[in-house]
Amino acid sequence: MTPEEFDIRRHFSILYEKIYSKPLVYLDNGATTQKPNCVLDKMRYIYEHLNSNVHRGVHYLSNQCTDLMEEARRVVARHLNAREDAEIIFTRGTTESINLLAFSFGETFCKEGDEIVVTEMEHHSNIVPWQMLCQRKGMTLRVLPILDNGDLDLAQLDTLLNERTKILCVTHVSNVLGTVNPVKDIVAKAHAKNIPVLVDGAQSVPHMAVDVQDIDCDFLAFSGHKVYAPTGIGVLYGKREYLDKMVPYHGGGEMIEKVSFSGTTYNVIPFKFEAGTPNYVGVIALAEALKFVDQIGFQYIEAHEQVLIQYTLGQLQKLVNVTIIGNPQKRSGAISFMIDNAHPYDVGMILDKSGVAVRTGHHCAQPLMERLGIPGTVRASFGIYNDKLDIDQFVKAVRVAANMLSK
Ligand code: PLP
Repeated sequence: MTPEEFDIRRHFSILYEKIYSKPLVYLDNGATTQKPNCVLDKMRYIYEHLNSNVHRGVHYLSNQCTDLMEEARRVVARHLNAREDAEIIFTRGTTESINLLAFSFGETFCKEGDEIVVTEMEHHSNIVPWQMLCQRKGMTLRVLPILDNGDLDLAQLDTLLNERTKILCVTHVSNVLGTVNPVKDIVAKAHAKNIPVLVDGAQSVPHMAVDVQDIDCDFLAFSGHKVYAPTGIGVLYGKREYLDKMVPYHGGGEMIEKVSFSGTTYNVIPFKFEAGTPNYVGVIALAEALKFVDQIGFQYIEAHEQVLIQYTLGQLQKLVNVTIIGNPQKRSGAISFMIDNAHPYDVGMILDKSGVAVRTGHHCAQPLMERLGIPGTVRASFGIYNDKLDIDQFVKAVRVAANMLSK
């Protein structure tokens, strides 16, 4: 079946909602995506027919759920092209994945005087956990700046990375500017100095084929809800050579080998990092979502979204009062813009009244806003179901907002 015959929109009931009697134009996919019916059906099916806690049961339902959960781990491993299923750790989302890593990696490999490198375009969840580690251990956080167009200033990477650097943390795609960072080259540069790299894949996994072996990153985090799966489920991929050595993050059931008051030993990966009852329904639904996007195929998804992005940029550039924030060499997922001096929130309110859902504000990237010297932006972010009709309704609403708000 071709993607056109597949008729993507038909799989998302919510897209047929009316907002203030107008068709919903959902351009807030960077915040969260809508869920296809197959994902919703799967969750309902599990709760109606199979629900039971995983891993520790002897009975039929528990074994069924456990099998489905571990099969889902295989689907995620295959999707990311991980070497083995055990390198896939289930978390609540990107934020928890990075907190897990900052704690477990930090406790295992870092000491006073060491350094962590992040970039100026990171989401708060790839800054604050590292700041917290630095505070705990007496370490220093160093920042790779951006250029004026919104690309990373990679010329500075060599001088930033030194013998004290313990890890480099970089987003694959900026959630504000849409910049696609050349993570494969960045990883190669860091590895030349024996420095491991975390890639924040929150905004890349929904839009492109992400191959962790090809990128050769040591860790990658992403959130299920941004890739058509439910909230509360995410992934930390890590190379076994690190995960085996890292101390656990949370203690509790499932992550142990043996518990005694004289000392406790830990389970093998991935279970060492999955204390307590996991979100097994979320895990199984995540696999369903990944199978859904794989069925459409990233070749089509990337091409489709690029056409939409270029069309949107072209339309917005025609509006004299609109300034697009950032002009990266390679863009995916999002376009940020401002209307003259109008507050982004006011623009968002006017768009909302036209049925258009966008996000406004600092997008959890306050250091980036500081660098750009702006309080926030209006962000349109794209998904597999958006089409030209969406963009036309959106641009029309932006024109109305520009007429009302520009001075
Ligand atoms: N990293 C990036 C680049 C993001 O865009 C986001 C969310 O917008 C996150 C991390 C945090 O994701 P979550 O809130 O799902 O943990």
